[in-house]
Amino acid sequence: MTDRPTPQPGILDIAPYLPGKSGAPGSKAIKLSANESPLGASPKALAAFREAAEQLAIYPEGSSRLLREALGEVHGIDPARIVCGNGSDDLLHLIAQIYLGEGDEAVMNRYGFSVYPIITKATGADIVMVDERDYKADVDALLAAVTPRTKVVWLANPNNPTGTYLSAAEVARLHAGLRPDILLVIDSAYAEYVTAADYSVGLNLVDANDNVVMVRTFSKMGLAAARIGWMVGPDHVVDAIHRIRGPFNVNLPAQFAGAAAARDVEFTQRLKEHNALWRDWLTAQLDGNRMRVIPSQANFVMVLFETPEQAAAAFAALMEAGWVVREIGPSYGIHNGLRISIGSEAAMRGVAEVLNSLDFAS
Ligand SMILES: *Cc1c(COP(=O)(O)O)cnc(C)c1O
Repeated sequence: MTDRPTPQPGILDIAPYLPGKSGAPGSKAIKLSANESPLGASPKALAAFREAAEQLAIYPEGSSRLLREALGEVHGIDPARIVCGNGSDDLLHLIAQIYLGEGDEAVMNRYGFSVYPIITKATGADIVMVDERDYKADVDALLAAVTPRTKVVWLANPNNPTGTYLSAAEVARLHAGLRPDILLVIDSAYAEYVTAADYSVGLNLVDANDNVVMVRTFSKMGLAAARIGWMVGPDHVVDAIHRIRGPFNVNLPAQFAGAAAARDVEFTQRLKEHNALWRDWLTAQLDGNRMRVIPSQANFVMVLFETPEQAAAAFAALMEAGWVVREIGPSYGIHNGLRISIGSEAAMRGVAEVLNSLDFAS
């Protein structure tokens, strides 16, 4: 017997999630560290959120029906196959809780999203980190890491923090190599920003199989504060999630705002175009000038410097100029890299100016 309540084995071995930094309170610093929308929120979503303020005394409809119907309409999905969550984090946690436990393994690529190890270990299962090929998930290596204990494969596509992606054919090949009792979780958090023609959000694989789910979020398209995630899966997975999710896991303003944002396809298109323009511009500005920019399909770029010291100097110079970017040494072990979210034109020009004026020789 111990003298105080004790967490389950493994919980205290988990390193807490490190969010991107914000500027000092009251400072004019611009945050480019959490991949939020470069254009803010859809005005229609903001109006819907305000409208919900009149109804705060009453519990929301528990299944997020309004939101599921809007998503179903816009994406051509039966709303009964959609589950919404308090951010996609909520849904990822539930998936881990349902399909993983002590003695099980989940497989992910080494520089995959840092939430996956946390939610895997929280269930008592082990996380298996698989080496990548030049910062891109390696399908053969992922398949080679599967053992009889493997129950889940986590795949962010495009991936955070690298921005790289697997083509539809590569994801299909990954799925084809998995046993039918292994759940493939395709986390398409950045789907709205992808411009590559050979990309797929993963719905085709969800539709055709009993062991694939696609998870999405509104956080990167203007509603990070509202906390709205959603997923699509086979009936048996949807049923299991409904059994253990919070009965009112998406608040009413979020349901309203999410439905309006989903339907505001013009705004989503504008976001995508702005992002593609400045992502490609920033990449061209920085790449080659003693920096390497990994080609990104998301709303951020990962910039690699020659040394960790140069990355630290670049981080400090940007911070000094009021641009807060993301260090990816602590969470991801990429000590010579920084992750920079795509922001406004002014932000991108400012960042490029700072980085291109750094004197790395000194
Ligand atoms: C940002 C992000 C999420 C989203 O998290 P929310 O809880 O919906 O804000 C999920 N997966 C990846 C890979 C991300 O980068």
